[in-house]
Amino acid sequence: HPQAQRPNGLLRARYGGRNVVTMLPGAGIGPELMGYVKEVFLKGGIPVDFETVQIDPKSDNNDDLKYAIMSIRRNGVCIKGNIETQSLDSAIFSRNVVLRNELDLFVNIINVQSCNNISSRHKNVNVIVVRQNTEGEYAMLEHEGVKGVVESMKVITKTNSTRLARYAFELAKNNGRAKVTAIHKANIMKLSDGLFLETCRNMSLNYPDIKFDDMIIDNCCMQLVSNPHQFDVMVMPNLYGSIVSNVICGLVGGAGLISGKNYGDHYAVFEPATRSTGSSIAGTNTANPIAMLNASADMLEHLGHKMHCYKIRKAICETLNENKIHTPDLNGTAKSSDVVQNIIKHIVTYT
Ligand code: ATP
Repeated sequence: HPQAQRPNGLLRARYGGRNVVTMLPGAGIGPELMGYVKEVFLKGGIPVDFETVQIDPKSDNNDDLKYAIMSIRRNGVCIKGNIETQSLDSAIFSRNVVLRNELDLFVNIINVQSCNNISSRHKNVNVIVVRQNTEGEYAMLEHEGVKGVVESMKVITKTNSTRLARYAFELAKNNGRAKVTAIHKANIMKLSDGLFLETCRNMSLNYPDIKFDDMIIDNCCMQLVSNPHQFDVMVMPNLYGSIVSNVICGLVGGAGLISGKNYGDHYAVFEPATRSTGSSIAGTNTANPIAMLNASADMLEHLGHKMHCYKIRKAICETLNENKIHTPDLNGTAKSSDVVQNIIKHIVTYT
């Protein structure tokens, strides 16, 4: 079988010495960013082929999505932009959420690190956010039982909280991190967030060398903007994770820089951390290509192509810090294509 089992159980397709990964360009700036990824991989001689699946945002059925999920099941690995769901049919749920749920991608990880030469609110930020990715407020269980009264279910399970908490502590242990902070609102949502917090606290007992504390989500947002350096690894339910991820990305330079990883027991999906669509800047050659290129580097690391991953990250670093080629979101005047061409220029010189 062409799918090789990795030691950690995650799958990856390999045909004739080349990896095949699913590419979902999505909407807005997604397609142009994927074009840059393909160009960098081609010019860099990176042995990865893409199986591209377009998902029509206006479609009233999920045939495209089903095909995309089948492709990821086959290839094990995917790189994606944000998928839009424009159908007015309330039975058509967010396709991003359905995809994560179908593939049981229970954890989303973003590692937010400051880049020295970029103007940002804070310097020397280095925080890992571990977010529950398949339940909580994203259960998509809403109904209007009585006209004018909408109920929405938030689902927290012990099973998913346990494996998420274990993931966060293992990540901290394997990366030499000192502290895990659980983010919650257990003072109000005593049962749901209470279960989440209790599960994290119990898990911490297995990791006596790692400090554990917790913080309420509202205080967490204030602490993040005033003193983000106090955080190390943060673990939280789904919606808080979405908000916190965007806040921290904003602290170090915005939506165009940081990548995010989605893992389950079998599949891995890589994307920009803030999951932005960027419709208003699509086609203007101004979108920052770095977040998607960082996602592609994460993907190469996952596939075991360590040297190619290193080259992309080094070229990104040199382009941002030494050459200072910055797109408008970083207060620069460079075009997206200037950044990409400079990155390629570096990559082809590395031996
Ligand atoms: P849009 O209409 O642009 O899609 P939105 O409100 O849906 O806006 P997002 O797509 O989530 O917002 O993006 C948030 C903000 O970050 C927007 O201003 C968007 O233009 C900007 N943005 C997102 N990705 C990038 C990128 N790669 N480079 C530069 N700016 C970006």
